[in-house]
Amino acid sequence: MISAGEVHLPGRPKDIVGLKALAITAQRAFDNFRPGGVKVLAGAPVIEKGMVEQDFADLAAAGVKLLGEVGLGSVKAGDEAQQMVAWARKHGIQSTIHTGGPAIPGSGLIDKDVVLEADADVIGHINGGHTSLPEAHVCELCEKSPRHRDRAQRQRARRHRRSAGSAAAEVPAPRDPGHRRAGGLGRAAAGHAAHDGLLSSAGRHPAELVFCFATGNTARMRGLNCGLIEVGRAADFVFMDRAQHTAGRTCWRACNSATCPASAW
Ligand SMILES: [Zn+2]
Repeated sequence: MISAGEVHLPGRPKDIVGLKALAITAQRAFDNFRPGGVKVLAGAPVIEKGMVEQDFADLAAAGVKLLGEVGLGSVKAGDEAQQMVAWARKHGIQSTIHTGGPAIPGSGLIDKDVVLEADADVIGHINGGHTSLPEAHVCELCEKSPRHRDRAQRQRARRHRRSAGSAAAEVPAPRDPGHRRAGGLGRAAAGHAAHDGLLSSAGRHPAELVFCFATGNTARMRGLNCGLIEVGRAADFVFMDRAQHTAGRTCWRACNSATCPASAW
């Protein structure tokens, strides 16, 4: 499971030494801790104004591989974000950018122009943050950005359909949705399966294809040793079946009608 990676705690440090220390601490903690048995990739800084290339080099050298959502800190302008994203990429750190209305206190609107200019590796919840972008802007991001997308569970089916439709049906790889999240559900693991059902039904894609968005695409994009069934890769499996009493006769048919499958890890 891949987290956006940043730690949101009361009094989150915003000075550069402090934010780097927190990111490194989180990376170490999740390296040592498997909540519910799940492997979690996390530990990322919320970038703030004043960071220089050496800060990203320091984070990379310390084992941090993710940049927290751009836009949650004081860096909100497209050109400033682009510079830091480029530094992060140069040092092997992947980046994600918040998209849509403000998220946490202190964050602001990240519109399509900022997203395109920042050029982060993943467009966070392309179908919308807490408040979705206009549908036309979602479509424009799908068409113009060569980067990967994740989607927020909490957003509307219509946005899912547009972002999934243009991403998977009209635009060739690697512009595929390979990264998702299930924020706000309080059930992250099962939430991903529920999200696949929503994406399949709203995006009008076969459920088995939607699950591939989240597994193989993510594995390739993130350089993971799981997510694909091949000799030499980690044997991390999720066993699923159709939910009890669902109308769908098979697991895939049930997912396609937006039913969350039963799962075991
Ligand atoms: Zn966000």
